[in-house]
Amino acid sequence: MPLSLTVLGAASPHPGPGRPCSGYLVRGGGAEVWVDAGPGTFAELQRHTDPARLTAIWISHLHADHSADLLAAVYAYAFGGLTPPVPVPVYAPADLPRRLAGFLGRPDAAFLGGVLDFRPLYDGHEVRHWNLRLTARAVAHGTEAYGLRAESQGSVLAYSGDSGPCDALTELAHHADVFLCEADLDRHRDGARPVHLTPEDAGAHAKGARTLVVTHVGPGLTRESAVDRAAAVFGGRTTAAREGGTTTF
Ligand SMILES: [Zn+2]
Repeated sequence: MPLSLTVLGAASPHPGPGRPCSGYLVRGGGAEVWVDAGPGTFAELQRHTDPARLTAIWISHLHADHSADLLAAVYAYAFGGLTPPVPVPVYAPADLPRRLAGFLGRPDAAFLGGVLDFRPLYDGHEVRHWNLRLTARAVAHGTEAYGLRAESQGSVLAYSGDSGPCDALTELAHHADVFLCEADLDRHRDGARPVHLTPEDAGAHAKGARTLVVTHVGPGLTRESAVDRAAAVFGGRTTAAREGGTTTF
């Protein structure tokens, strides 16, 4: 099995019943990586794997709808007995330890050193776990934010994280088997620098990919309308991320 994507959650901007916010389990090359920790996704993660045995956690940016369930992971790892055999590498913007410590009322995150191994992301950051390579690219979200390219044995998954239109998304999607791309907005507001994509933007940035999976569909859209609008621009196979669904490629 070269690479698989399991959708733990895809809702924006808040979770609903049975609908966690952004979170995915990416498996390939002997590695298992929890990508984005939106509210509700830590519970869903446990349907698919033992969180204590994750190879790594990879967080696109620190907005709560992509990172809040790291608190649930801390409670499980540090207090709940799901203690990992070695600290789990957490790839994320550099401010993550300070944010977690602040929420937990601690002066710093040193007390988590036995369970989490914080590793700051930067544009072009690349790491390999077994036969899974993860590459981060800075994207346009008005805060430090990254898209991801995950590659294993010739299969490629690209993920937008949250982003407005930018060249890095097109580069991430180039020759990807699956481009998992946000489509949060019904339309752009006049004059504002966009920090999210419309379905048409997602379709345009997906041109170099084989398949487009729209996710993070905002409240001004339905998943069906986002798929139709993105597909009209992309011209290739287009689906919507659905909770619990697994794609292998
Ligand atoms: Zn965001």
